[in-house]
Amino acid sequence: MDKDVKDFLTGLIERNPHEVEFHQAVEEVIQDIYPIYLDHKAYVQDQILDRLTEPDRIISFRVSWEGDDGKIYSNKAWRVQFNNSLGPYKGGLRFHPSVNQSILKFLGFEQVFKNSLTGLPLGGGKGGSNFNPKGKSDREVMRFCHSLMIGLHRYIGKSMDVPAGDIGVGAREIGYLFGQYMRLVNQWTGVLTGKGISYGGSAIRKEATGYGAVYITEHALHKRGDGLANKKVLISGSGNVALYAAEKCIQKGAQVLTLSDSKGMILAKDGLSLEQLQDIKYLKEVARGRLVEYADKHPSIEYFASKAPWAIAADIAMPCATQNEIQAAQAKELIASGIFLIAEGANMPVTPDGIAQFRNNKLIYIPGKAANAGGVAVSGLEMSQNSLRLSWTHEEVDQKLQGIMKDIHQSCVKYGASRDYIDYAKGANVYGFLKVADAMVSFGAV
Ligand code: GLU
Repeated sequence: MDKDVKDFLTGLIERNPHEVEFHQAVEEVIQDIYPIYLDHKAYVQDQILDRLTEPDRIISFRVSWEGDDGKIYSNKAWRVQFNNSLGPYKGGLRFHPSVNQSILKFLGFEQVFKNSLTGLPLGGGKGGSNFNPKGKSDREVMRFCHSLMIGLHRYIGKSMDVPAGDIGVGAREIGYLFGQYMRLVNQWTGVLTGKGISYGGSAIRKEATGYGAVYITEHALHKRGDGLANKKVLISGSGNVALYAAEKCIQKGAQVLTLSDSKGMILAKDGLSLEQLQDIKYLKEVARGRLVEYADKHPSIEYFASKAPWAIAADIAMPCATQNEIQAAQAKELIASGIFLIAEGANMPVTPDGIAQFRNNKLIYIPGKAANAGGVAVSGLEMSQNSLRLSWTHEEVDQKLQGIMKDIHQSCVKYGASRDYIDYAKGANVYGFLKVADAMVSFGAV
């Protein structure tokens, strides 16, 4: 590693001790952008990198709520407002027991670059809580969301900060959060995205992250004269991103071999059908069940407890579960099983030594900030529709999403292509950075 980069990272670690996920996210970006940073006198003069790696502010608060058993429980919650140079802070809320400040800072930092890549006027932020919605009743989730919004509502607004969903936060949670916000401020504004269609949500928002990841994958395949038809695809996860990535892959003629959850994975040797996927969607979205329950009822589907999909022979891998699910060992497994393209539906699912494996072996590696940007892009379109006070059709939103993913692909190629390799991660980091850095220079010392 270059000495300047190393010194910069040492300083960052000293200023933010113990925040390993945040260090990891910055390290991934900094190596690609440092030469460009040094090339621009104004960036160095204005200390853009020091300022861009420090969130504008972090709001942290306790959320107390009453359980069905009459006891009072409490959780920690945060909103990391990372950078609003390009637009209002924008990014999801994550409810998961693993959530801490480091994870939210890594996600907020990534979001700044991802949102810049969409070409829409969106800054970057992230929030969430270590609350675990699993095993809680609907009423408990409602009381938690209502209480959280009491703490959060002063700091958000349609031109200030617009949260959305992420792991553990879907339509149900957004509904409770939005209802409480409306009650507290006595205004209907597009302060959250991912809302239900009947109250201001956008067509395709639920599908957007997964669909977008498949659209950009298709562009990368077309670039080498290839396509998705008959490709074997490994998908991890079984949340929103995984399910709709699977749906779009199947619609495009690919074979989706796997899905997974925190307990294990399912394998469909000849690929899942759209009908099977429909049933799995019902199980996950409505019944809130586990994949093992589906496999138990369908003998053609194999179930492997405590296993991830990466050792199965296939062409494409789409990690859509969570951060750091692919380390160097799994990256080697993927390479050995014939994978030539990795598109990240999740945020930072591959560790730096895993990424190094992909780069060294010249695999096509499309990082989350490009591959999963379709979700936040449609959130941006939801904000536009709310401001215009109208709703676009399914087709209109899908067209716009396809256009945005095409542009992101082009930007990655423009800034990441060398003679014999397209480094999509470098392209995404450089393009995302230049826009934010230029804006910050224009503002002066703010
Ligand atoms: N949580 C999603 C992401 O990681 C969506 C954020 C949003 O729509 O604001 O990009």
